[in-house]
Amino acid sequence: MFPEHQPTIDLVIPVFNEAGVVEQTHANICKVIDSLPHKFTLYYVDDGSTDDTAKCLAALAEADQRIVVLELARNFGHQAALTAGLDAASGDFVITLDADGQHPPEMILQMIDLFKQDYDIVQAQRIEEGERFSFKKVTSAGFYALINRISGTSVLPGAADFRGMSRQAVEALKSMPEYHRFLRGMISWMGYRSVILPYHETNRLAGKSKYSFGKMFRLAMDAIFSFSLMPLYIGLSAGGMFFCLAALEIVYVLSFWVTGRTSNLAPGWSSLMFVILIVSGILMILLGFIGVYVGYIFQEVKRRPVYLLKRGKK
Ligand code: UDP
Ligand code: MG
Repeated sequence: MFPEHQPTIDLVIPVFNEAGVVEQTHANICKVIDSLPHKFTLYYVDDGSTDDTAKCLAALAEADQRIVVLELARNFGHQAALTAGLDAASGDFVITLDADGQHPPEMILQMIDLFKQDYDIVQAQRIEEGERFSFKKVTSAGFYALINRISGTSVLPGAADFRGMSRQAVEALKSMPEYHRFLRGMISWMGYRSVILPYHETNRLAGKSKYSFGKMFRLAMDAIFSFSLMPLYIGLSAGGMFFCLAALEIVYVLSFWVTGRTSNLAPGWSSLMFVILIVSGILMILLGFIGVYVGYIFQEVKRRPVYLLKRGKK
């Protein structure tokens, strides 16, 4: 039915309370993929929707044999829904995109072209435009600046969960079973031959963003704490600082002795202050050491592969 040499392509679309838009999104996707020679499978992942999304998806699946609907037992969140779809997908090239129409389906064509040019990861990057200062933009810019400063993995600012991945890259991602998932970081950590595809984000077809402030905050926490051990090292730096303060205090007290003004020193202040600074320093440094061990344990329990092969052998 489909030419043998054409790669099979899967689309993974997480859906949470998108009854008002999912039909339109599907129609827009169909406009793009219907004329292509590839075998497509569309995985709609219903992330515990409480509106009519399940019904809409069932109706769509009834009418279009290419659709597979995955229903999560509750709302596990965008990253989990994407993971469920990627786990189920089996195509040669897997594209993830949002259900709200903000990720232009026309870009699927370019993504497939780039995949054929042997790219493993085709990452869409949102070009910022419109209002100069919005809450989302400012927090997002701050977040990317912070994560790129404190983590060893660079995360592309404006990178959306709109990307295509070769089978090889999907399998690599599946070999990372960690629970707190920040896919943008994990994929960038993997390496592989990647290319960035800029796009202008349009408004949602309908409805409101499903990323509440709480969800955004949790994603940022997942990203920061699973990609950086920096917070654990704060103890070490604070301990070092207390030692420096203790040294400064010695110099300060000595200056009174050298200039013969010891009577100006409150009795007991020097020794008390010194003990407080040294003991605090020791405690902080010991906490820092524990932090380092916790960091090592954390990295171990993530069970990430030690390396990934560029061209994996099965
Ligand atoms: N989404 C999801 N689970 C959630 C939140 C969002 O599956 O808990 C889906 C949502 O239906 C959409 C995509 O993830 O397809 C991106 O969400 P949204 O458009 O609300 O985020 P924004 O574009 O505002 O950042
Ligand atoms: Mg959106």
